[in-house]
Amino acid sequence: MSIAISAAFDSGNIEVVRIAGPGAIDLSIRKDAHSDFYQWFHFRLTGAAGQACTLRIVNCKGSAYEGGWPNYRAVVSEDRQNWTRVATSYDDGVLSIRVTPRTNSMYVAYFAPYSMERHHDLIARIGQCSGVSTSVLGVSLDGQSIDCVTLGEGPRHVWLYGRQHPGESMAEWWMEGALERLTDPADPQARALRQAATFHLVPNMNPDGSRRGHLRTNAAGVNLNREWHAPTAEKSPEVLCVLAAMNETGVDFAMDVHGDESLPHNFIAGFEGIPSSTDRQLGLLGDYKTILSRLSPDFQTRIGYPVAAAGRANLTMSTNAVAERFGCVAMTLEMPFKDADDLPDPRAGWSPERCKALGRDCLAALLEIVGRLR
Ligand code: ZN
Repeated sequence: MSIAISAAFDSGNIEVVRIAGPGAIDLSIRKDAHSDFYQWFHFRLTGAAGQACTLRIVNCKGSAYEGGWPNYRAVVSEDRQNWTRVATSYDDGVLSIRVTPRTNSMYVAYFAPYSMERHHDLIARIGQCSGVSTSVLGVSLDGQSIDCVTLGEGPRHVWLYGRQHPGESMAEWWMEGALERLTDPADPQARALRQAATFHLVPNMNPDGSRRGHLRTNAAGVNLNREWHAPTAEKSPEVLCVLAAMNETGVDFAMDVHGDESLPHNFIAGFEGIPSSTDRQLGLLGDYKTILSRLSPDFQTRIGYPVAAAGRANLTMSTNAVAERFGCVAMTLEMPFKDADDLPDPRAGWSPERCKALGRDCLAALLEIVGRLR
């Protein structure tokens, strides 16, 4: 059995440049369709049990975020359940991943993948819980459903959505943690939240990019988080259908869940530069960040994106567009591809389990402000 590489599966992405023995496996990341973005990789290495392999991704220099590669470590799994970090180095545009597989089948990825099959299992499992209804808000360009989970009886409307950028699989691990907490009949924070608000969760806004192994765009090569000012059926039906559903319910609190390639921290970006921002909105945003940093040692407020000056917000992005349109509190949660350096984990780095824990803590933080949302 000779060494081989395959990415012909859900969210797979890699191309083989050459395989000249275990120490010289040269690979390149494929661009998102109709786009120049690339950074997500996910592939299977077969036939290499017991052999010291060097996997070299040779086209990292032109990737979407070159700053994502220094101090980054890839994840691998042989059972497709547990993902661990492995020795990785970055030098002059080449990412070198060193592994010695125990078996003849090892999966290697940019971050622990969240497959569309797992997405369907999640929607089906959560849909069985009491008080939960699921709906399909619309259809993607590849014909996949945009699934929404609705629960709770309260008057305020909370929208939580993720994976506009499909390579940011941490967002759907976060969603799994949030949904498990919200549907736990014994959890007191969840019970109080369900009394106070009605929740609408869209765990995956970009199923086409997810299945195609994209970093940042949908099947048409469109960055969905630059479409919120004017989504169209031709380019961005995923945004069009979610915004239409938001228009029906109104929005009191919105969180858009993402991953950041470069910064090794969890942080929140707000809507400070929108034309109509009020002291009430901004006060709630500040309070939420303070509460979350108290509840979760994995979350911090020192490091994040620069804040837009008054009137300079980019209204094509969902957080700004939703805060402006609905006069609500909206925010973008960013989690790292690397590790959260405030409390690092050398074995797993930032991981699915930690994403899920942060999802639970984000809800506990919401409980402390939900009564002031309207
Ligand atoms: Zn993103």
